Amino acid sequence: MPAREPEPGAEELLVIDDDPDAGEFIRHLGMNAGYRVTITSSFQEFKTVYADRASIIVIDLMMPDVDGVEVLRFLRSKKCSAGLILVSAVDQRIINSVSHLARRQGLCVIRGMQKPFAPNKFAEILNNASAEFEKLEDTRSAERRHETSGVVTAAEISNALERDEFRILYQPKITIGNENFLSVEALLRWQHPVLGLLRPRQFIHVAESDGLIDRLTEVVMARSFPRLAQWLKGGLDIYLSLNLSPRSLVALDLPDRVAQRAQVHGLPAERIILEVTESWLISDVVPALDVLSRFRIKGFGLSIDDFGTGYATLGQLREIPFTELKIDRSFISGARANEDARTIADSSVRLGRRLKLNVVAEGVETLDDWKLVKNLGCDMAQGYFIAKPLRGDDVADWFIGWRARADIA
Ligand code: C2E
Ligand code: CA
Ligand code: CA
Repeated sequence: MPAREPEPGAEELLVIDDDPDAGEFIRHLGMNAGYRVTITSSFQEFKTVYADRASIIVIDLMMPDVDGVEVLRFLRSKKCSAGLILVSAVDQRIINSVSHLARRQGLCVIRGMQKPFAPNKFAEILNNASAEFEKLEDTRSAERRHETSGVVTAAEISNALERDEFRILYQPKITIGNENFLSVEALLRWQHPVLGLLRPRQFIHVAESDGLIDRLTEVVMARSFPRLAQWLKGGLDIYLSLNLSPRSLVALDLPDRVAQRAQVHGLPAERIILEVTESWLISDVVPALDVLSRFRIKGFGLSIDDFGTGYATLGQLREIPFTELKIDRSFISGARANEDARTIADSSVRLGRRLKLNVVAEGVETLDDWKLVKNLGCDMAQGYFIAKPLRGDDVADWFIGWRARADIA
């Protein structure tokens, strides 16, 4: 079937692929999808032709004179804003990691595909490329807005502490197959008078590097401990998790301060779980080990957060008296589409269970995720499918609704 002639003003599809057959094949599909197509078969030719006009660029990751990573570096130096389709006969895993790298560098990857690709599949991607590209652009600019709105200074955080602008939301974490009790994780929010409700990633790093993090931890305790006491008094069988910054683990008196606060509100230590991310394990572990051991001796629960994203070794997992392991949400929501993510989730569950830890899946967003974490054998689950972070006043009512829902399911 002869390819259609492009309309005047058609968008450009630029291809770099050393294999002439693949090039012609893409030309045909591209023209049928209404693109003006330019094929190049070497990096030299690509660089000459490139003029930041193309809306879509197809890149073969493996060519004799250049590899895809170098092409991406070139595009980044040109601040390329085209939608990229990465193709190659190499392992899908390599394509995935190069896509990841490109996105981290601010390039817009629409899709990574393994060769040989089915003509229908490629045609479909080209036909939907503009829509997908716009969607990606929308999220990217939303993220950029988010990031720029997050530029706050230590002085502003200090002021906000004085003006009492910090709030806590509570996200439920439920036990799969047992609706009798509930855990909630305290998540910090800043009700900024101008910028609105800010999430931790917009200010925590500033607080950490400017020595304000301990004051934030104090605020979290000051707000959530009376709340926990109130829930327990009201007859709720409930546990509370707090996030501790790795930076706080150097303060040797931290366990005493937390225990003291708990005591003031008559809270048994067993009701409080402290979450720390894996990331501290790369720094000086001795003070942290001291602090963590003393938390356990005092009876608090200890959770290793974002498991799978850091550098914990199996030996460290055994040495540190953790009681809980939270599998990072990227492996749970990623498991749907990505076999490697599923494998990591699966082995994390097995590892956690062998070490007799309470295994929690984070980021359960859909019914499919929920089924998956049940099948994997996780003990607990947390995520938007179960509940978004809630206001303290709404937790008890939410729990009544959840128990009714879980009964039916
Ligand atoms: P985290 O401990 O991993 O907390 C979970 C984060 O994932 C929360 O974001 C939560 O709103 C979000 N989340 C929950 N369910 C889902 C889901 O199904 N899908 C997706 N995509 N996201 C979900 P948030 O509240 O923005 O907190 C971000 C991080 O900030 C937390 O990650 C934690 O590391 C840190 N953080 C939160 N509160 C505190 C705090 O009081 N102190 C310290 N040091 N860090 C905190
Ligand atoms: Ca956490
Ligand atoms: Ca986490």
